[in-house]
Amino acid sequence: MIDEANGGSALPERGVPAEQVLDEIRGLRAGDRPTHGGRLFAYVYDPAVPGLDELAATAHAASAHVNGLDPTAFPSLLAMENALVAAAGRLLGGGPGSTAPDVVGSVTSGGTESLILAVKAARDAHPEIAAPRIVVPSSGHAAFAKAAHYLRVALDVVPVSAETLRPDPAEMAAAIGPETVLVACSAPSYAHGVLDPVGEIAAAAAAAGVRCHVDACFGGWTLPYLRRLGTPIPAFDFAVPGVTSISVDLHKYAYAPKGVSVLLHRDPALRAPQYFAYADWPGYTMVNPTIASTRSGGPIAAAYATLRHLGDDGYLRLASLTRDAVAGLAAAVRAVDGLRLMAEPESTVVCFTSTDPDLDLFVLVDELAGRGWHTQPQLSYADLPASVHLTVTASVAPRVAEFGPDLAAAVAAARASGPVELPTELLALAATLTPDALTPDLVAGLAAGLGLGAGVPGRMAPVNALLNAAPPALRERLLVEFVGLLQRPAWSGSGVASAVATPGPGQR
Ligand SMILES: *Cc1c(COP(=O)(O)O)cnc(C)c1O
Repeated sequence: MIDEANGGSALPERGVPAEQVLDEIRGLRAGDRPTHGGRLFAYVYDPAVPGLDELAATAHAASAHVNGLDPTAFPSLLAMENALVAAAGRLLGGGPGSTAPDVVGSVTSGGTESLILAVKAARDAHPEIAAPRIVVPSSGHAAFAKAAHYLRVALDVVPVSAETLRPDPAEMAAAIGPETVLVACSAPSYAHGVLDPVGEIAAAAAAAGVRCHVDACFGGWTLPYLRRLGTPIPAFDFAVPGVTSISVDLHKYAYAPKGVSVLLHRDPALRAPQYFAYADWPGYTMVNPTIASTRSGGPIAAAYATLRHLGDDGYLRLASLTRDAVAGLAAAVRAVDGLRLMAEPESTVVCFTSTDPDLDLFVLVDELAGRGWHTQPQLSYADLPASVHLTVTASVAPRVAEFGPDLAAAVAAARASGPVELPTELLALAATLTPDALTPDLVAGLAAGLGLGAGVPGRMAPVNALLNAAPPALRERLLVEFVGLLQRPAWSGSGVASAVATPGPGQR
C-alpha cells in the first residue's frame, strides 16, 4: 500500500492520491486507543450518538479555513462564538435575569488556554503588584502550574485532605496575601472528581478583594444536568457571589471535537485585561482575546453544530446515561476485595486505589488494557496513594455490565503476577537522583531497561513504578526525557511506514 520510495514521508517526491493518503491515515489510526466504544476512560469524550461525528466533521470542514484573527472579516465565527459563550454563560448561572447578567467570555482552544488566560487577566489587572501570586488547591489541574510558570506568577499550593480530597477553606483563606491576584478551585477536580467548597473559597476571595476562578473545565457541562436529574450538587457557578470567572471545556462533556473551551468572566471589566492589543508596528492592528492569533474556525463551527444538534434535552439524556454508568462502575469497584474508591462519586469520575500490597495498581492497569479497558494511572502524591482514574462518558453505559467481570479477572491476574519489582539499584537511584544529575547516557540506559527504546512499550507498569518511586521534580525530568526520545523526526519515514504496514486489530 505504501510507495516504497516515499514510504510514510510527509513530503513525498511525487504527490500521493487522496484515497491512498486516507488509507494510510486509517492504518495509523488503527494503532490508537479506541476513541469510541466506551472502553477508554481518559482523553476522549464520547456520547455515542449516531451521526454526530459526521455532523461535526462537516461543520468543521465548512469553517476550517476561516480565521478567527479578525471577527470583522468573518462574522460567521463571531456569531458562533457569541452563541457558544451565551450557552455556557446561561448554563453556569449567568445571563439576563440571573445574578450575573453581564457575563462575557471567550472561546479558547482548550482548558489549559482558558486557565492561562484567567491567570493572565488576574495578573494584568494588577500592574502595581510586582510579584503576583495565585492560590490553588493541590488537586487543582496542572494547567494552573503551567500558567504560573508561563506568566511568572508564583503558585501557593494548599494541600487537600487525604480523606475528603478537598482543601480546607480556612487554609485557602489563610494563603491569600497582599500579592495574591487569583484564588482557584475546581468543580470538580480532574483527578478525583470531587467538588471543592466553592462557596466558602469564593467568599474568602471576595472578602480579600481577590478574583476567584472556578475550574469547571471538566464538570461545567455535566454538573448542571446532574443537578436537574436530582443529584445533590452544591452551588459552584455564577450563582455563588465572589466567583469572578469560570472555565468549561466544550471538547469534554459538551462532546465537541477537540479544540474548544469557554472562559467566562462575570463582567466585561474583569475580562478586559485578558486581551492583547498592539498597534505599534507597521502591519495590521492586532487585538487578540486568546493566546493564538490565527485561529481556525473549524473547532468553533464543530462545537456550535454539536450543541445545536444535541440540544438541552440531549445533554440531559446523556447526563442520565453517564450517571447510571458511574453508579455501575463504582459498584463494580466496591465489589472487589482490595480496591477502595478514593471518593464516593459526585460527578462523572470513578477513582480507586488498592488497599492490598499484593495488588499493584500499575499492573492492574496493564491487565485491564489487555482486556480492552483503557484506564488512567495516577501516581502517588504527598499523602495520597497511587490511584486509577476513570473519566466516564455516556458511551460507557452499554459497557458497564462487562466491566465488573473483567475487573475481577484483571485483579486476579494482577495478584497472581505480583507487584512490579524494579531492581533495587534502580529504585535507589529513583529515590536519590537529582534532576540535573540525569545525563543523556543515564536516560538512554533507563529507557532501554524499561523497554522504551523502540517506541511506546506494551506494558507501562515498570515505567509507572519507576516514576512513582521518584519525587515530582525527578518525575518531571524523566517524563521530558522519555517523551523527548519518542518525539524525533521520522527522517526515513520508516516509523510511519511500519505503523501503516502493521495495522492493529481494529483495522478492516
Ligand atoms: C481537562 C482539564 C483541564 C485542561 O484542559 P485541556 O483541554 O486538556 O487543556 C483543566 N482543568 C480541568 C479540571 C480539566 O479536567
